[in-house]
Amino acid sequence: MGLSLNKVVKPQSNELNKRAILASNDQSPVKRLYVEGEKPNFSKGDIVDLLKNINKLYKLPYSLYKAVDLIKKDTAFNNDQLDQKTFNRLNELLEKLGVDDYGFFEVTPDKIFKGNGVPHKYALVFSSGMDRTEFETAPSIKCQLEVARVYYDTGNVANRVAELLQSNGFGASPNHSLGGQLDYSMAAEWAGIAVTGRHSMAITKKNGPCHRISVVYTNIKNLDVFINKSNDDMLWIKEFCKKCRKCQRKCPTGAILMEPVVLDGFNPTRIDYDKCCEGFTNYGCGICIKECPFTSGKYESLKGI
Ligand code: SF4
Ligand code: SF4
Repeated sequence: MGLSLNKVVKPQSNELNKRAILASNDQSPVKRLYVEGEKPNFSKGDIVDLLKNINKLYKLPYSLYKAVDLIKKDTAFNNDQLDQKTFNRLNELLEKLGVDDYGFFEVTPDKIFKGNGVPHKYALVFSSGMDRTEFETAPSIKCQLEVARVYYDTGNVANRVAELLQSNGFGASPNHSLGGQLDYSMAAEWAGIAVTGRHSMAITKKNGPCHRISVVYTNIKNLDVFINKSNDDMLWIKEFCKKCRKCQRKCPTGAILMEPVVLDGFNPTRIDYDKCCEGFTNYGCGICIKECPFTSGKYESLKGI
């Protein structure tokens, strides 16, 4: 689309960095950015589809702008103890917004992308599913429109949760689904709601990798009284991935590596991000989501294989 995603997400990152109380350290991972200059090969039909779905696209930058505004407002907090009433309101809101699962973790410097920071010690993590039927067509403009829709939805979740928490006196800054200060796949794993698959995406029970994640950083100290998620019963996915390798075999650019490589001295990665970005010329690709058996939503039956 000729749109620089790196530039679009920069104001949010700048604002979070300005208010950071926790900064990255020497062991932090390097953030991999989208390679600039890669443009999808749109056909005339795709342009028509884009225009028909303009309502899904224009809301996305608006939600990023809103996130920046909420981060700026996150200054006057006087409460760090969640109560049952506010927790119930949070759950009602998440249900209304169609959030499939959520958890939290304590942020430490080694989890934050190098050169960045976050404004609070705890992170709430939200997962919202994408329509898997759209991914059956990947790579296609249809699945990229679905990605855009859910990027807006999850960004909106982070904004609405931050608003609710701020209005109850808590410190709360949204981190939109576009442009995390930390690795969102790992965030879902740390929060106990997913396990990271061979394709480096967070696999949840309900949606497999067919979902998007957003985060709210908060000062609430007693989240563990209300939220207790564990992915211990999902760790078998790591063994499943060792045998499966379907994403790796089907990836058109060879971006999913056989064995993890350590590029920064500390953090192993299985994805060659430059090669994956080559896939972006094919509408953003998404083939690894389409091919992953967990995208079917049949978590329990896969467990028996
Ligand atoms: S999005 Fe496409 S190119 Fe990137 S890792 Fe997945 S299958 Fe490979
Ligand atoms: S396609 Fe197979 S190997 Fe790849 S993440 Fe999914 S289950 Fe794991």
